[in-house]
Amino acid sequence: MLSLGAQEIPLLEGETVLEGLERSGVDVASGCRAGTCCKCMLRADSPPPESQSTLRPTLRAQGYFLACQARPEGRLTLHSAEAPTPVDTRVEEIEHVAEGVARILLRPSTPFPFRPGQYLDVLHPDGHARSYSIASLPSDGVLELHVREIPNGRVSGWLHGRVQGDDVRIRGAFGQCFHVADDPRKKLLLVGAGTGLAPLLGIARDALSQGHAGPIDLIHGGLEPGRLYLREELSRLAEQAPQLRIHHCVLRRATQHEHEGQLDELAVRLAGPLASVRAFLCGDGEIVHKLRRKLFLAGMPSAEILADPFLPAPA
Ligand SMILES: Cc1cc2nc3c(=O)[nH]c(=O)nc-3n(C[C@H](O)[C@H](O)[C@H](O)COP(=O)(O)OP(=O)(O)OC[C@H]3O[C@@H](n4cnc5c(N)ncnc54)[C@H](O)[C@@H]3O)c2cc1C
Repeated sequence: MLSLGAQEIPLLEGETVLEGLERSGVDVASGCRAGTCCKCMLRADSPPPESQSTLRPTLRAQGYFLACQARPEGRLTLHSAEAPTPVDTRVEEIEHVAEGVARILLRPSTPFPFRPGQYLDVLHPDGHARSYSIASLPSDGVLELHVREIPNGRVSGWLHGRVQGDDVRIRGAFGQCFHVADDPRKKLLLVGAGTGLAPLLGIARDALSQGHAGPIDLIHGGLEPGRLYLREELSRLAEQAPQLRIHHCVLRRATQHEHEGQLDELAVRLAGPLASVRAFLCGDGEIVHKLRRKLFLAGMPSAEILADPFLPAPA
């Protein structure tokens, strides 16, 4: 039996979820019907494991499955694809942590479920929406964002002008870039430039809080040392967790505390044998694209490369 909102759809003997929905007149996308093209991907509470086996761990963790491969034995409750409802938040704190970068703490007025590393949309009163990654854990009770002010930027400029107590409306959470505790000994490689640190901080803290025992290498990159921020907080985190190593990488003017050179070259060097590593790549779109390509060509399976490129909103 399938539950879809108020609708109950009985499945015939041996029928897949895709076949059952089509027979009942539900409009559902499909392609190869062989579990390859993923066009019929849907979301449900506890879908049959065989209908998730070819998907990325983050999709599996969110209940995504392939309808053409699913023959549920009991009732399967499908999630509708409605957009999440906006949530009001209050600015709890705003701190300038580096030139042009603010760390903003938002306290939601109603529950806002998310996984650290996912992103949310900030809704500007004039109707524009921009995405920002979440650096905090649900147990913190606040949403931590790291926002770089873009010259003439509509939403980043507005956010930088907010003060404690102001209201900010958000919606979400979105994205596949978060930790899944499916292998506590796996090596995790976290690489990001600039405010790409925000999701990486959330992912590292989340992995540690879930008892991840394998090595975690977090590389934060920037143009020069002054662009790197939260260094003390990262060092404190690493002092408490010997499996976490923090690396700083700059393109120029490195001191003894930073590597000087390209972020992607350092990432490949620190990754070691790539077949057993999961990578998280966040920040500037071009840098993320270059990192993903380099790691894939060096032998990392694409399903183990989770990336959030911070692409600008379309004009
Ligand atoms: C999944 C995702 C996660 C993101 N997470 C973060 C985050 O954690 N922190 C963060 O600071 N940003 C993040 N971003 C980027 C953010 O969503 C906005 O694009 C950014 O803040 C600029 O928005 P704006 O309204 O201020 O500028 P806009 O008004 O959109 O743009 C103003 C002008 O600046 C240009 N521009 C926009 N972005 C850039 C840029 N990066 N470099 C140079 N020029 C630019 C535009 O083309 C335009 O000409 C993320 C983006 C995505 C897609």
